[in-house]
Amino acid sequence: MDGTTQQSDFRPAGRLGSIGVSEILKIGAAAARLKREGRPVIVLGAGEPDFDTPDNVKQAAEQAIRAGKTKYPPLEGTPELKAAIVEKFRRENGLSYAPDEVTVSSGAKAILYNAFMASLDPGDEVILAAPYWTTYADIVRIAGGTPVDVVCREENGFRLAAEDLERAITPRTRWLLLNSPSNPSGAAYSEANLRPITEVLLRHPHVWLMSDDIYEHLVYDGLAFVTAAQIEPSLKARTLTVNGVSKAYAMTGWRIGYAGGPKSLIAAMAVVQSQISMACSVSQAAAVEALNGPQEILAERRLAFQARRDLVVDALNAIDGITCRKPEGAFYTFASCAGLIGRRAPDGTLIDSDAAFCRYLLEQHDVAVVPGSCFGLAPYFRISYAASEDSLREACAHITRACEILS
Ligand code: PMP
Repeated sequence: MDGTTQQSDFRPAGRLGSIGVSEILKIGAAAARLKREGRPVIVLGAGEPDFDTPDNVKQAAEQAIRAGKTKYPPLEGTPELKAAIVEKFRRENGLSYAPDEVTVSSGAKAILYNAFMASLDPGDEVILAAPYWTTYADIVRIAGGTPVDVVCREENGFRLAAEDLERAITPRTRWLLLNSPSNPSGAAYSEANLRPITEVLLRHPHVWLMSDDIYEHLVYDGLAFVTAAQIEPSLKARTLTVNGVSKAYAMTGWRIGYAGGPKSLIAAMAVVQSQISMACSVSQAAAVEALNGPQEILAERRLAFQARRDLVVDALNAIDGITCRKPEGAFYTFASCAGLIGRRAPDGTLIDSDAAFCRYLLEQHDVAVVPGSCFGLAPYFRISYAASEDSLREACAHITRACEILS
């Protein structure tokens, strides 16, 4: 032994392929590094409400701990939480699910993972409406499936056009994954927007629908949220309706997601979950209170987010070179920076892509935002406005200044 540490070469599994650490996390890490160096970086990259978890929910968790709810919970969720979810789907979505048609996991992300692991064989295709949360494509790949991107053009409100969906469907299509309101575009589907999509699905009975409704409660200007299984009951037998408490109740760290769907799929998802992990017992008790307790907080926070959206959209649209569609929901703006491409910063830096623009904003103007290319649509950038109005105002002032000095 010569005293030096032996290095062993780690060979990652082939299934990881091109899957790396998410670009969003990398931007977060770069912003954190600059902050440590003393730079006043405003981070508008995270998909996380800045509000705190409501007190009644925290108290329910404390009580659960004291009552000894600290053992392994049932595989698919506690009976109390499953009952609260059944009631939530009935009350808010007009959907009737039996307890064995709902399941609970450690976040909606784990729900998606279980569903794809339980259903995809190599070569099976999943249609994703770009721009989309990149995790979708990566989970599909890990599960052995093939993501198929269909671009949702800004002219169509970043919504999936029925004819584009129709064209993308093949005999290998297993799922369409739809996310309304959308991360990253904020686009939401009214009943009239959703109807043409459900009509296409009715013509293709082999295609199932995964409806990611995690931003359900963040819809603005009085838009009525609708989910596919609700407006088209005949699709319910092949729809997985996905939701969770992370965004609505500011509970991202509690890790509770849930879904309603046909019994056979829910049972297959439980097989996957049985070999990973069920959701934390204490968090499940907290989620019961979130779903069954007072709901006033949802409307209050919705109004706060709507005011922040308006602030950011107005500020962005006042900038030469940027245009920003007013999103209907979630807490993201997805603005075009097409008008800035080809311009140069005073130090000569060429803005030749949305990624270059976001790098320039971070490195020279202390604002962290995420390029649209990370979500499958360029040249755009996503701002998460889950931040105080003061920091949003300051960030917009930085972006305005950054753009003004481009030539
Ligand atoms: N779906 C979408 C569209 C999201 O943006 C997120 C969180 N970024 C999730 C699902 C997952 O939420 P969680 O795992 O916290 O429930």
